[in-house]
Amino acid sequence: MTETLETAAGDGGAGPRFDGTSSRRLLARLRDIMAGSGSGQERLDKIVTLIAAEMKADVCSCYVMRAGEVLELFSTEGLNKTAVHNTRLRVGEGIVGYIAGHARSVALDNAPSHPSFAYRPETGEDPFQSLAGVPILRGSKVRGVLVIQHKDRRRYVEEEVETLQTIAMVVAELVAQSELVNPVEVTTTGDPVLLPARLSGTAMSAGLAMGLAVIHRPQLTVRQMVAEDADAELERFNAALQTMHSAIDDLLEAASLAGLSEPRDILETYRMFAEDRGWLSRIREAIRVGLTAEAAVQQVQNDTRARMSHLTDPYIRERLMDFEDLTNRLLQHLAGKTSGTDGATLPDDMILVARSMGPAELLDYDRTRLRGLLLEEGSPASHVCIVARALNIPVVQAGDALNRIEALDQLIVDGDHGQVFIRPAEDIQMAFAEAVALQHRKEQMYAEIRNLPSVTRDGVPISIQLNCGLLIDLPHLKASGAEGVGLYRTEIPFMVRASYPDVKAQTDLYGRIMDEVGDRPIVFRTLDVGGDKMLPYMTGGEEENPALGWRAVRIGLDHPSLLRQQLRALLLAAAGRPLSVMFPMIAEVAEFDGARRLVDLELRRLSSQGIAPPSSLRVGTMLEVPSLLWQLPALLPKLDFLSVGSNDLTQYLFAADRGNPRTSTRYDPLSPAMLCVMRRLVDECGRHKVSLSICGEMAGRPLDAMALIGVGFRTLSMSPPSVGPVKTMLRSLDVAALRQYMSGLYTGADHSLRDKLRTFAKDHGVII
Ligand code: PEP
Ligand code: MG
Repeated sequence: MTETLETAAGDGGAGPRFDGTSSRRLLARLRDIMAGSGSGQERLDKIVTLIAAEMKADVCSCYVMRAGEVLELFSTEGLNKTAVHNTRLRVGEGIVGYIAGHARSVALDNAPSHPSFAYRPETGEDPFQSLAGVPILRGSKVRGVLVIQHKDRRRYVEEEVETLQTIAMVVAELVAQSELVNPVEVTTTGDPVLLPARLSGTAMSAGLAMGLAVIHRPQLTVRQMVAEDADAELERFNAALQTMHSAIDDLLEAASLAGLSEPRDILETYRMFAEDRGWLSRIREAIRVGLTAEAAVQQVQNDTRARMSHLTDPYIRERLMDFEDLTNRLLQHLAGKTSGTDGATLPDDMILVARSMGPAELLDYDRTRLRGLLLEEGSPASHVCIVARALNIPVVQAGDALNRIEALDQLIVDGDHGQVFIRPAEDIQMAFAEAVALQHRKEQMYAEIRNLPSVTRDGVPISIQLNCGLLIDLPHLKASGAEGVGLYRTEIPFMVRASYPDVKAQTDLYGRIMDEVGDRPIVFRTLDVGGDKMLPYMTGGEEENPALGWRAVRIGLDHPSLLRQQLRALLLAAAGRPLSVMFPMIAEVAEFDGARRLVDLELRRLSSQGIAPPSSLRVGTMLEVPSLLWQLPALLPKLDFLSVGSNDLTQYLFAADRGNPRTSTRYDPLSPAMLCVMRRLVDECGRHKVSLSICGEMAGRPLDAMALIGVGFRTLSMSPPSVGPVKTMLRSLDVAALRQYMSGLYTGADHSLRDKLRTFAKDHGVII
């Protein structure tokens, strides 16, 4: 299936008309070429020349898929001819790789601004602004990509894309008739073993990993079903349960020793499942009626699976996986095996491949050898993924993995783009090895500047803070050199629990977080759930527009006891230490007042009980809902600080769903509209002496962060991996020059200021 993807309206014109008549004429000439003489290569050359001439394109190029999922430039009119058979792109690399990777047509009036744009100097394609490209498809397989490019910005009309698609069908035949490449390379259907292949999936944990496949097969077959002595079986079961508990306790301890607080949290929850009375009593009951311990465990699991299989709720599905994991563990303990992994026989660089996996199973493997994880089932919110992210292990979820991968196959897991290369060709391996090495070099460079001041070239100090949501993120605080935590998202622990954590559990958790952070500042954001992040134990019902729905502080204000409990826990945890709290999704001053009132009620409660209040208390809000922009004079005097949640602010300002790939990148936060909002906030907060920061994703992207500093932001909060790149950028930046440059940008009609700002950075030696 192909789909046309277009960037937002550009400022170029529609270009020369290409209509049905032009299309028919082009196709008639194409028929002549195909009916004429010449080799496959010669005919392809004629085809690209014809397309360029008839479509008045400055460039027409054809890329053909080679073994190993590499797209090779086979023919071009307009690019350097020396690049033919030399330029190669991986699937997923550049716009051509994007078209192949997604089997999707694109028509871009501003190709360099597309997130997948990759500049290849050898082709000399620098000056081309517009690009239309289509996949060359045969059956469901992508055989190559056909593109046209124009120097000027222009919008492609539908006929042009459709004509290219028709021609691509003809070129697909040329490729399939093996006239262009060796037949072996075009018969990859079904991935005969040993041929390279690529699996497209979902990115669940970022990063690149290379290694050998280790197939995780925890299922044990139960051979003996009926037991003669039920009491003896019960005893065996209890003993196995006991050893399983101690094994989980050992894991818990190991996680603590390694400073891994978040896996610890998750394992604790997991242990709770292991003690689930209902589950255990059903197993015991099955043993009492005559089954062996193994058969009883298996039967209860089959039963649970059958009862839950029709439920699609992701939380329930995750719980089902936890029970599957526990079942497998129990079966292993009943069989006398303590661990499913045999360290001695595992490769040094391993990529685990599993249908599904529990967090404890992942931790069973030697972390020093574990490079990546490929799951057939799972979601980013699953426990195993949370643990993997905490351990910096790239994860991709892709169906059919186990059918296509053999043990010890060479694999590359690309957790940034959600793809996996199976038995990759040597050049792909080399390209990835280079990418990994480059990443290491960069990390080394970031480590070198870690203890250097976070100050611009012209002496403006910028505070870099971290966005965290897991205890495991906190060690990054010291490691990254960030000044504090600008945003602590409190919802994650709520989401992995089976019920609402009580005040004591919350107090313990917040206390641990504060201990970990020590003297550095930390801002806790109250629960930001609801909409699509519904807690399983909270009843809300389906919503048509979850992002605009009953979420965040709206829930807290409607159920004050929930918010009060969280505030109470935060106040208790602070116990004489400073505390900063902010509320998400505030849309009006009255909402802030309502939330603030709850803080005051809890403060009074503390003092009536003789408990010490925090040594200092700062209460602020996030600015995510545009309505607040018109209430700043009434709002700001009430605030201790304000933090811009640009992820939601962008979505609400442009009415563009941040979770929908069709709209999430349609508007650019580096647009005059957004930057005007930011400038206004800088001015108003300055006037009211309210400290201002930003904690949306844009603060962590070097070019965006540069613009924010140019607008006047001095505190940026970002995820840990962004600290190095942003600090490198700001240490090379002259703010005064940027301010001057940006003063002329706010009132323009640009769709995006990204190109202009990038040019500024290039011209002024700013490292982005
Ligand atoms: C934001 O909206 O920018 C933000 C930081 O909050 P979240 O991404 O958690 O919605
Ligand atoms: Mg938000």
